[in-house]
Amino acid sequence: MDLSRRDLFKVSAGVFTGTALGGLAGLGASLAPTLAQAQDLRIKHAKAVPSVCPYCSVGCATLVHTVEGKIVNIEGDPRSPHSEGTLCPKGAAIYQLHVNPNRATKVLHRAAGASEWEVWDLDRAVDRVAALVKRTRDETFVERLENGKRVNCTTAIFSLGGATLDNEWNHIQQKLMRGLGVVAIENQARI
Ligand code: SF4
Repeated sequence: MDLSRRDLFKVSAGVFTGTALGGLAGLGASLAPTLAQAQDLRIKHAKAVPSVCPYCSVGCATLVHTVEGKIVNIEGDPRSPHSEGTLCPKGAAIYQLHVNPNRATKVLHRAAGASEWEVWDLDRAVDRVAALVKRTRDETFVERLENGKRVNCTTAIFSLGGATLDNEWNHIQQKLMRGLGVVAIENQARI
């Protein structure tokens, strides 16, 4: 199928009203049935699982299509009362979160002063993070201020969550940080 530049522009604009593939329906009438059929074929035997876009606090609803346990498509859920099946360009690209050959799948560590990254075993990396958190907390923990007021905190550790952390993870993260006495806790998504 040949697409003109104008068609491609329409495809890009169409992303605002659904997935990239769904957006192809914004093409001319002659192309639309073919593209709609392509979409139907892609998800014909798929199981649709409702989910939420993890990227920002808008929390647009999505449908994740899977075939034999593998994700084949993600698009906006038209049943959502506030997003009505639409996704912004970032949300329309969620598929790449899971299916992406450039996705980092190993822990990479670059020692202070080193120029090369080293692949680390996950357990080793978690042990290292835990040791550094403990050492920092031990060295900086404040039980009471000079006036005797109890504060039980450290201001030397900061927790910053990312948009792809889900509600459950954020809940546990917040409990862990507060238990350690960390008071600087933030998340980009605030969902
Ligand atoms: S990133 Fe876009 S699609 Fe995802 S929740 Fe936010 S507005 Fe919705």
